[in-house]
Amino acid sequence: MQLQSSEAIILDVLDLHDYDRIVTFLTRSHGKKRGVARGARRKYSRFAGQLQPLAKVHVTWLEKEQSELVRVSSVELERAPSGLHSDLEGILLGSYLADHMLEFAQENEANDHHFRLLDSTVEALLAEVDRGLAARYYEAWVLRIAGVFPAPHECPACGRGLEGREVGLAERGEGLVCRDCGGGSWRALGRETIAFLLRIGDENLMKLQQRSPTTATLDEVEAVCAQVRRSFLQRELKSYRIIRETLAGIQQ
Ligand SMILES: [Zn+2]
Repeated sequence: MQLQSSEAIILDVLDLHDYDRIVTFLTRSHGKKRGVARGARRKYSRFAGQLQPLAKVHVTWLEKEQSELVRVSSVELERAPSGLHSDLEGILLGSYLADHMLEFAQENEANDHHFRLLDSTVEALLAEVDRGLAARYYEAWVLRIAGVFPAPHECPACGRGLEGREVGLAERGEGLVCRDCGGGSWRALGRETIAFLLRIGDENLMKLQQRSPTTATLDEVEAVCAQVRRSFLQRELKSYRIIRETLAGIQQ
């Protein structure tokens, strides 16, 4: 058995038996981990209040050979996610952020880009950056880190530069291509949408917010990212379906 510790962000917490919990967390130095927090459901547990999704923590755990699950031995809270969990929309957005890492981050494989993206997005949300802007920035970056949605500098099909050219989604939603390389369903995206996908490479959320894109642009970014993500995963993220259904229900 080996003792490890790292800064981490909690992604998911599930009950296990009567007294324990299973915690999935994204560490800075060891990728994604899943472990058992013994006694975490007891009233006076040492984990009380710390095992909340999106809490930033310092976690210590024991690795057991030939076991996928580690044993969580201590969790110290560094940043509570409370501000994000104060209303339904914030809770849904929080689970959407976590869901991406549950899906895209690898177990036992450090990825500093993932950790910094999730950390900085939660930090910006707690500082009350616009939630729609944060969600679009985050989902586009997750796809970019996965290598499936590069910044639209050149057309991946013909290799020509995209600057000044019309850009749209490839036929099966696998990425952005020029008009000549698009199939029958190709449709040009708005210039503002392309500009946003370029800006996220250089500007953080706070800076983006100073010159925030229009709602129509953010809606188009959302639709494009959802298509690219579905094309890559071959299905939709569960949390995204829940957000869409819940918000549609509220608006009726
Ligand atoms: Zn092309």
